[in-house]
Amino acid sequence: MRDPRYDILFEPQRIGPVTARNRFYQVPHCNGGGYRDPSAAAEMRRTKSEGGWGVIFTEQTELHHTSEITPFIELRLWDDADMPMLHRMADAMHHHGALAGIQLAYSGINGPNLYTKEVPRGPSALPIRTFTNDPVQARAMDLEDIRDLRRWHRIAFRRAKAAGFDLVCLYGAHGFGIIQHFLSRATNQRGDEYGGSLANRARLMRELVAEAKDAIGDSCAVTLRLSLDEMIGELGFANAELRDLIEMHAELPDLWDLAHGAWEDCSGPSRFKDEAAQEDLVHGIRRLTSKPIVGVGRFTSPDVMVRMIKSGTLDFIGCARPSIADPFLPKKIEEGRIDDIRECIGCNICITGDMTMSISRCTQNPTFMEEWRKGWHPERIAAKGVSESVLIVGAGPAGLEAARALGERGYKVALAEAGTELGGRVARECKLPGLSAWGRVRDYRAYQLSRMANVETYFDSRLTADDVLSFGFENIAVATGAAWRRDGVARAHVVAMPIDPVMPLFTPDDLMAGRLPKGRVVLFDDDHYYMGGVLAELLAATGARVTLVTSSAYVSDWARNTLEQGAIHRRLAGLGVEIVLNRTVTRVVAGGVATACAYTGRELDLVADAVVLVTSRLAEDSLWQALRARQEEWAGNGIRSIKVIGDAEAPGPIAWATYAGHRFARELDMPDIGDALPFRREVAALAAD
Ligand code: ADP
Ligand code: SF4
Repeated sequence: MRDPRYDILFEPQRIGPVTARNRFYQVPHCNGGGYRDPSAAAEMRRTKSEGGWGVIFTEQTELHHTSEITPFIELRLWDDADMPMLHRMADAMHHHGALAGIQLAYSGINGPNLYTKEVPRGPSALPIRTFTNDPVQARAMDLEDIRDLRRWHRIAFRRAKAAGFDLVCLYGAHGFGIIQHFLSRATNQRGDEYGGSLANRARLMRELVAEAKDAIGDSCAVTLRLSLDEMIGELGFANAELRDLIEMHAELPDLWDLAHGAWEDCSGPSRFKDEAAQEDLVHGIRRLTSKPIVGVGRFTSPDVMVRMIKSGTLDFIGCARPSIADPFLPKKIEEGRIDDIRECIGCNICITGDMTMSISRCTQNPTFMEEWRKGWHPERIAAKGVSESVLIVGAGPAGLEAARALGERGYKVALAEAGTELGGRVARECKLPGLSAWGRVRDYRAYQLSRMANVETYFDSRLTADDVLSFGFENIAVATGAAWRRDGVARAHVVAMPIDPVMPLFTPDDLMAGRLPKGRVVLFDDDHYYMGGVLAELLAATGARVTLVTSSAYVSDWARNTLEQGAIHRRLAGLGVEIVLNRTVTRVVAGGVATACAYTGRELDLVADAVVLVTSRLAEDSLWQALRARQEEWAGNGIRSIKVIGDAEAPGPIAWATYAGHRFARELDMPDIGDALPFRREVAALAAD
């Protein structure tokens, strides 16, 4: 039963002409699928409807072909051809009683139009502002362009309503929507009635809201998603100006949806942003308007949510990532199942699906975006098949997720772990600076396992092939993880790097085990994700003089996809870490390292007392190899299958391991599909000719 403390979260709320069943508001979020994978995206939203969200939004939907953000894959509403997929989306959102919202965007100064080849339009003639620094500029819109833009919006509003949406959100946050481009002095340098004073810069916003109200306002709510602070000081649209704007237009939209600065400010990872990090920026705005306010803050704690409502900060709890990690978050609060919430860890792997234009994954929820593709439901799984028992070797994220999901299917599961705790790499990495929330990967699963009578966990159990073959389990998953390499092999070195043995040499595993180098330390990062930057931070905090050398042009290069690369560089620079870019460590010598410029090969020696190699990892697959070599003994020992999963198969980020564990559990005892494609997809329909 629901704890009465949380009743307030379930009060129905009016938004203009519509009423949400509760205060849980899934704000728009990308998923890497968009128009390429519309049924996958629709089914993902359907599970959230089932999970109890009051309002569910699409991702950004491009409302006109003169403004689009190729290569990123979102939704489109360019003409009637886009209607069927949007219809499907709205239907899916409605399926279990949520309101359906669509976020409409005209990308203006953020739309390079690489696909449509149209000349971009913005308030002022400026270079297009994208992640990809496209060499394209926008022309300044004249008054006729503005009239066109109003008309295009009106057409899009009517289509949105016809597709079945209850709410239309005009996007003017994160630097992504034209409303913000007009509101901000940084991008609006006009001298006419659309530029200059705040009232003038807000004119387009007023006009577009008026168009929406006029076209569909009788039955659809019209919301504005605005930036809380553009984070470029007075030149941009700062928090004080937002407050002035809301005061001036208090009753304009049916709801104010407030999001922070650039996307990296708003969706900051847990390494850099705590839950409710935007509270100060939102607090007090509630008093300026009678219209409801939604804000975000990676909310996973119902107590924090209640505080946000009771303090008069928010009316709706906005969630993107928490709704990805647990689509059933509202329902679990409603049913008093707080401990069952799969809390977002704030790793931003979900965002990488959008940034790499692939399809999103979630570290905590391996079913995300597989609801339709694979038929994976986040809270339901098929009952067990013909076999009875499974042994899982290794309790890292792969092993834990496999054990949890197999336990749910009803198998007799044994989880054998060589060490004395659950979590594998997660147990170690969550002790690194800023990564404590990553422990939730372990905590959620450990709690679920603790309640399953059919799952037994064994510690101090480093299993050998003889053990595995003799224990009598029908199925075995080898999830024994990986170890960081000591020989420098990764991208720059495909064979071992010359290393003088007199030099103290460390790997991430050494540092995580508490063996820390001292003095002048060169850390060579040829991994390019978070580990190098995190360890440089750890070492700097313990007083070492750290030089981070990387062959990339960026520290923690791949972290651009998790929107934290800039924050990592800033933090390291602030800690006094010397950052050497575009350089490869060519060999480790007594007293230092030799390096070479990644472009010219020009050499430079760096003095060091110790070297840390953050390069690549070697699968810990000796058990798997030993078992494979004895395959003819499997059947005689009653074994139906042995598989290697997770980092032991091929090292990757944690999300890859939870996915592997989940997949193993889903597929056990399922019919062999042979060479068939293991997921559904949609292929563009060919035109008649
Ligand atoms: P993954 O990310 O694939 O889950 P991890 O490295 O996080 O991999 O976890 C692997 C776990 O497997 C570690 O906790 C490790 O102690 C354990 N392990 C490794 N070899 C064995 C073995 N032979 N028997 C039991 N446990 C093992
Ligand atoms: Fe949260 Fe990470 Fe999942 Fe994204 S991928 S929802 S940040 S746990």
